[in-house]
Amino acid sequence: MRDSIHVDFKQLEYTLSVVGKCTDDYVYILDFKKDYYSISETAVDAFRISESSFYNATEVLKDVMYPEDYPKVVADLTAIQKRERDTHNMEYRWLDKYGDPVWISCRGHVILDENGNALYLVGRISELAKRNKIDNVTSLYNINILEQRYEEIVSRQNIEGYMMVIGIDNFKEINEKYGHDFGDRILANLADIVRRCAVDGEAIYRMEGDCIAIFHYGNIREDKAKELYKKIRSAIDESIEENGYRMFHTVSAGAVYFSSKEMEFGKLIDQLGFALHNAKLKGKNTFVLYDQEEYERYIRRLDIQECLRRAIEDDFKGFELYYQPIMDMRCNQIHGAEALIRWNSEKYGFMSPMEFIPLLEESSLIIPLGRWILETALRQCQQWQEQIPNFCMNINLSFVQLQKSNMIADAIECMNKLGMTSDNIVFEVTESGEIETSQATQNVLKEFKDRSICLAIDDFGTGYSNLRYIKEKMFDLVKIDRLFIQNIMQNEYDYMLVKHVTELAHSMNLMVCYEGVETEEELESVKRLCPDYIQGYYYGRPMNAAAFTKQFLQGNC
Ligand code: C2E
Ligand code: CA
Ligand code: CA
Repeated sequence: MRDSIHVDFKQLEYTLSVVGKCTDDYVYILDFKKDYYSISETAVDAFRISESSFYNATEVLKDVMYPEDYPKVVADLTAIQKRERDTHNMEYRWLDKYGDPVWISCRGHVILDENGNALYLVGRISELAKRNKIDNVTSLYNINILEQRYEEIVSRQNIEGYMMVIGIDNFKEINEKYGHDFGDRILANLADIVRRCAVDGEAIYRMEGDCIAIFHYGNIREDKAKELYKKIRSAIDESIEENGYRMFHTVSAGAVYFSSKEMEFGKLIDQLGFALHNAKLKGKNTFVLYDQEEYERYIRRLDIQECLRRAIEDDFKGFELYYQPIMDMRCNQIHGAEALIRWNSEKYGFMSPMEFIPLLEESSLIIPLGRWILETALRQCQQWQEQIPNFCMNINLSFVQLQKSNMIADAIECMNKLGMTSDNIVFEVTESGEIETSQATQNVLKEFKDRSICLAIDDFGTGYSNLRYIKEKMFDLVKIDRLFIQNIMQNEYDYMLVKHVTELAHSMNLMVCYEGVETEEELESVKRLCPDYIQGYYYGRPMNAAAFTKQFLQGNC
């Protein structure tokens, strides 16, 4: 239906002012002939205009519009005046009271006079941020719009392209240290830089937190995303230099190349998040391309972690302690056992502790399981001590238990409950850098010593183990890793190393245990170095309690 003038302007203006009071939007009327504009009074508080109605509209509105957007708005209104179209429907920026751009959506419908000429434009303006579309810090569309755009495009055609997400490194610290306004400025600056660098038709969006996404489709080379990342990085470096290093920061990026046939939006975002996470893990300030195999491994790890959590909740279902004999070389008799955890998962079957222990550590699930291991091993030890009074039980401790739980209190409480002392209990600790770097861990180890609870340094010779631990007698027992024991026969250096470490430990009154002796030849050659204890497949593999009892205790009844 054509709207033509049977409408009295004053009446119309009044009606619109009433409607304006009933909505968050701003309702307006533009009289083309008189160049007169009237808008809801609330707009005066929100934007850079001093009155809600004014003549000379074309000039006055120029002042409230973001300069870059002004020409395209004028072009659209001119087209309406020329009767090339009836409606105005655009998204552009107005300036707020402080001169900052605010994204608005402006829609209007033309009213004609009896000769069919454009008389008025009547419509509404709404702030996109209010409708959750635009982020006011960066003036970029948000992720909801990216999703809409992606769905819209892939519903029409199969596309290929990439999505890249760029995140500011250590943004949380930047905000904490310099305040949120400063953080916002860095983010806005990044958005400007990305806008300037993305000149090939890439679309840019604000993601959650400190991230900006770039969406580019079409016939795109594989290295396009990385190239753009590099360009953005050097533009950031330049801007940091221009700012006299006041806004120093780095950015990391993750990118995914997709083909829309098989790619749902949610999945794409998950993969992007994973690639960015990896970039941060790789030391930040870098670009990582999504790798499907890596992602599958990551998902598997998450799934195993979930199975572990459920098994622990379900009364430690599927967990069992195995025991491996430790022989006393001085009397060639059984000295004790090392408790080693086993897990038979309903979904994954038997899994090596080398695979699931890091997952337990990552999620801190090692703490509840560690308590169960402690109690189970202590009970077992108590039972075997009935036959061999000095039977010794070695229990492994993870650094997570040392750092995050009250390990010593737990151990003492458990021993009290069972009516045991800590004699003949050895806690094994593997050094993975934590002893050196964490004062808290060093304090816990010192408390073990102060309470005369026996400590062993595990896998000595690998990783971070330090001769200082021997020199300063932080441990009572040194367990030398299988890696060295294995090589002793072929490698003179390893032979000398094991020999000297053993002599050094003995000179400090520490005990020495060799791990992983598998064959008779190995046994013969290591024996000459006079270890106190030997543990290895030669004497027995880790086995369940029943098998261990049968093999090592029944003769002692
Ligand atoms: P670890 O503490 O060094 O335990 C010794 C590992 O060496 C065991 O592997 C054992 O089966 C293996 N081993 C012993 N003798 C030989 C040998 O002669 N030849 C060979 N090839 N291997 C030998 P397992 O049971 O697979 O445990 C692997 C690691 O998982 C352990 O290394 C330990 O770091 C961790 N772990 C096992 N149980 C526990 C536990 O209850 N708590 C904690 N925190 N960690 C545990
Ligand atoms: Ca161990
Ligand atoms: Ca070991």
